[in-house]
Amino acid sequence: MSKKIRIIGVIGYPIKHSLSPVMQNAAFRAAGLNYRYLPFEVKPEECFRFIRLLPRLGFAGINITVPHKETAYNSVDYLSREAKLAGAVNTIKVHNKKLYGTSTDGEGLLRSLKMDADFVVKGKSIIILGAGGAGRSIAAYLATKGAERIIIANRTPGNALKAVALVRKASPLTIVFAIKLKDKFVRFYSNTSDLIINATSVGLNTNDTAVISHKAIRKGIIFYDLIYNPEVTSNIKEAKKGGAKTYNGLGMLLHQGAVSFEFWTGKKAPLSVMKRALQKGLREAP
Ligand code: NAP
Repeated sequence: MSKKIRIIGVIGYPIKHSLSPVMQNAAFRAAGLNYRYLPFEVKPEECFRFIRLLPRLGFAGINITVPHKETAYNSVDYLSREAKLAGAVNTIKVHNKKLYGTSTDGEGLLRSLKMDADFVVKGKSIIILGAGGAGRSIAAYLATKGAERIIIANRTPGNALKAVALVRKASPLTIVFAIKLKDKFVRFYSNTSDLIINATSVGLNTNDTAVISHKAIRKGIIFYDLIYNPEVTSNIKEAKKGGAKTYNGLGMLLHQGAVSFEFWTGKKAPLSVMKRALQKGLREAP
């Protein structure tokens, strides 16, 4: 192990419940890398300056979480293809005093869908509930991976239309359109899809009313909730009632972390160590 400690951080506002530090520190230890991963609470008005100072502060990189992903996009020197697709940056690497931004959410979800649910996106029909930062970036990424039809159902139509525009730019051949989350056609389109993704923040509280009714669930369909805490959301309960195969967002969290690890270090991520650390972190979470 080299002596020089390299600092990686995660910035957000708030940040104290992030599971990334336990996951990434376990990964660095297992890989024999002298890196430390620390959380930093950064206010929105301080975010741009904080990111621009990273080279001078000696950081090797950072993760960026809510609400800073768009500011990060506008703060870096270079953007990866994935960042351009997502219109957001959740991972920055510092190299030769320059900032390289990427987005690992889409690839994280794709890997989780493949490894956890044995689901291949190519040729499939997907309905995404929600069009915030996460919904937009996964919609564009899944389109580039050959999804045949993507429907964005969101409470605020303007945000859904932003997601539609990103998908059209990313993959002109994908059929894409937006509907309102409360539209009666949500049921029809869910029933005729192969995969339903919850990318809204509805379900974070255990007493939230589910974002979709069991009547919109076709037996055997895959329902993937990006939320991982609580482990079983009200959405997952409702989807199970309709006969769906359900997954929570822990797999996506794990795999987006693995892609970030690979981006910073150039090494393969120690997945099983990271998964165990995440599960332990989650058990001990408030
Ligand atoms: P965001 O940018 O704040 O977007 C929130 C989304 O939820 C928007 O589509 C918003 O709709 C919708 N929403 C919020 N309250 C609602 C309500 N009461 N009724 C209907 N829709 C509502 O957040 P984000 O970054 O996209 O994250 C979304 C979720 O994904 C969060 O729960 C987050 O924890 C999770 N996530 C998980 C991972 C992972 O690795 N597993 C990664 C990223 C995000 P409007 O547009 O109408 O406001």
